[in-house]
Amino acid sequence: MLMRRRQFLQAGVAASAALAGTVMGAGPILAAQPKAGRQVPGIYRIAVGDIEVTAVLDGYIDLGVDLFPDAKADEVAKLQQANFVPVGDMLRASVNCFVVNTGDKLAIVDAGGRNLLGPSMGDMPAGLAAAGIDPAAVDVVIATHMHPDHIGGITTTNGAAAFANAELVVHKDDWDFWMSPENLAGAPEFFKPFFQAAQAAGTPYVKTVRKIGGDEEIIPGIRSMALPGHTPGHTGFVVSSGTNTLLIWGDIVHSPMLQFAHPNWSIAFDTSPEVAAGTRRRAFDMAETDRLLVAGMHLPFPGIGYVMRGGGFKFVPAEWRYGL
Ligand SMILES: [Zn+2]
Repeated sequence: MLMRRRQFLQAGVAASAALAGTVMGAGPILAAQPKAGRQVPGIYRIAVGDIEVTAVLDGYIDLGVDLFPDAKADEVAKLQQANFVPVGDMLRASVNCFVVNTGDKLAIVDAGGRNLLGPSMGDMPAGLAAAGIDPAAVDVVIATHMHPDHIGGITTTNGAAAFANAELVVHKDDWDFWMSPENLAGAPEFFKPFFQAAQAAGTPYVKTVRKIGGDEEIIPGIRSMALPGHTPGHTGFVVSSGTNTLLIWGDIVHSPMLQFAHPNWSIAFDTSPEVAAGTRRRAFDMAETDRLLVAGMHLPFPGIGYVMRGGGFKFVPAEWRYGL
């Protein structure tokens, strides 16, 4: 409702009269409520024109500060203090997925890490259930790239497709790179688990995979956008309906606290840190100039907001939307 001053005054008179008639008595005796000891499922919904987008939280990942080779320790400490997070060598990042319902098609963009990177992830299925979304109703699984915290959840622990009726959509350069047995065989030991995770996730979708480029329609309402640097085929997805647009930018940002202030600080496992930094600067610039709504897999849940300038750049979380 819209409340204006005159209504407020009238309501105040009515409330005072009502209160005057109340006799304060002894309240009921309440039983102790057992503590839950954990967070509620993370789900949040917005509309982009006629399209509904539901952010689903899969969990979080702790990134060592040393994963950002250009980060200066004193500047990191300063940012941690300014952001009211513990000063130390760990940066906590959200792991988000986004379900896009166009009305005709149901898509999910990334699916979290299942249990591939430990117990801090894997909440996506519970989030979908809480949002009333049936995995069997998903038509399209879209992967921004094939890292384990993005594609782990597309497959179940027993190796089946978690979205049994969906095709997998992924950039052809990512699919070809990660699914290659030769690349797995030739990878250094520490890097092999990335290939193994991608191949385990991709295998149930081999027959249905649709390999895409960086600028094409995925389904009506969703287009791919090349955002290179993080992996061979890292891709963003633009959701649009009428004049409304949302850019789901994948892994442009891993540590919002560090990388909005310092867009040049790339994460160590970018395929090309310099290309990734250039992509990040351009994405920030475009988002700021166009006042574009963006969503990111590692932005603080629900991971939806805007970019503004100031001390480098700043992320402005979108206000809670009370209705669609
Ligand atoms: Zn990631």
